[in-house]
Amino acid sequence: MREEPPTGGGRRSGGALGWVIVLAVLGGLSVLAWLAIDRGLPSAWILAPLAVALLAVEVVISRWRPSATTRAVLAVLFVTLAGTVAWQLGAGTRPLDWRPFDSGAGPGEPGPLAGTPVMQPAVPATPGGTSAPIPTAPPGAPPRAQPIAPPASGPYDCSQVVRADADIDAIRSAFGATNWRASMVEVLDRRYPDGAWIVRQLRDQSFFDRWFVMGRGDWAAAMTELGTAVHESAHIVGLLQRRGFTHVLALGERERLSFPIPRTFHRAEILDDLPAEVRRLSYSSTYLEGQSGAQGFEMVLDELNAYTHSLYVATAVARELPGNMRQSGRDGLLAFLVFTQTYLRVARVQHPAAHEAIKNGEIGRATVQLYDRAECALALSAPHQNIGIDDEMLRGVLRGMSDEVAALRR
Ligand SMILES: [Zn+2]
Repeated sequence: MREEPPTGGGRRSGGALGWVIVLAVLGGLSVLAWLAIDRGLPSAWILAPLAVALLAVEVVISRWRPSATTRAVLAVLFVTLAGTVAWQLGAGTRPLDWRPFDSGAGPGEPGPLAGTPVMQPAVPATPGGTSAPIPTAPPGAPPRAQPIAPPASGPYDCSQVVRADADIDAIRSAFGATNWRASMVEVLDRRYPDGAWIVRQLRDQSFFDRWFVMGRGDWAAAMTELGTAVHESAHIVGLLQRRGFTHVLALGERERLSFPIPRTFHRAEILDDLPAEVRRLSYSSTYLEGQSGAQGFEMVLDELNAYTHSLYVATAVARELPGNMRQSGRDGLLAFLVFTQTYLRVARVQHPAAHEAIKNGEIGRATVQLYDRAECALALSAPHQNIGIDDEMLRGVLRGMSDEVAALRR
C-alpha cells in the first residue's frame, strides 16, 4: 500500500506537523465553543470562530496534502466536533421545547394540545355534601389541611407573596374571548405579582397562552388553567437564564436561585422506594418513568419550584372556583416534597457520592430554601379546601417520612 503508513521522512514530519496544527485548532475550538456556550453567548459568537478555524484548517490541509485515509479521519473529527457544538447549542436553546420537563399530561400538567383540565370533577367537601360555595374559613369545622408551618413564623416568610384580597371584580366582569390573555396577566399583577413577572420574562409570549384551552372565554376554566400556565412559564424562564452547567430557578422578581449541577442519578430510581399509594398517583408515572424519569435531582427541584408557583396561583384565585369544584393545587407540591425526601434518602443510602455532592454543594442550600418555601405555600393555602384532592394522603405520607432535608441545613 503506497499511502499507509506514510514512508518518506520529509513527508512524515510534514504529516506530523499537519496533525499537530489541525488537532491544536480543533482542541482550541472545542474549548472556545464550550466556554462560549457555558456563558450563554449567542450562536454567532460560536459559529464565527468555527468558520475561521475551518478556513485555517483548510489552508493547512491544502499545503499538507494528506492521504485519503487522513482526510477521512479529519472529516470524521470535523463532523463529530460540529455535531457536538450543534448539540450543545441545541441544549442552550432548549427553552423552546417544553418536553424535557413534562413529558405528557400529568395531574397538574396538561399537555398544551391535549389540554387535560387541571380541574377535577366535583368532589363533595364532605360525604353527601352539597355543591354550595366552600367558605374560605368553614365555621365550626376543623380545617381540612393543617398548616405545616405558619406563614409568618416558618423559616421562610411568604405571607406577602400572594395578595388574595386584591380586587379583581372589574377584571372578572369584563373578561371575555377577546381580552382573556390581558385579563390573566392583570389577575396575576394584582394577586400574584411574581407570577406576572415570570410571564413577562418569557421570550416567546405565546408560550403562556398555549396552556389556556377552555379558559379563553370561560372564567372558571381560566382560573384553573392559570396555575399551569405560570408553572410551565417558570420552567422556561429558569432555562432562559441558565448558563451552561449552572441551573437557574425563577422564583420571582426579587428572588432567583442558581447552583452548579452536580452529578446525580435518575429520579426514576426512587420509584420503588415510594409507598404504593403514592406510586399509584399519576405524578409518579409522569415524572418518574420514561424519558422524564431519566432526569436528575436538579429537575426534581425545578418541579418543586414550578409546583410552588402552581399553588401560589391556586391560593390567589381559590375563591374564584365554583363552589362544587376542586382542583389539585396542593397535590403536585406535596408529591414533589415526598419525591425530594425520597430522593435524598435513596442518595444517602445507595449513592453516597451524589449525596455528598448535594449536601456540600450550593444545590443543598437551594433544596432547603425551596423546601421551606413550599411548606410556606402549603400553609398559606390551608384555609382553602377546594385546592387539594389527594393532599390529605400525601401529607400523611410526608409526615411519616424521615426528614432528609434536615441534614442539608447548615
Ligand atoms: Zn413542571
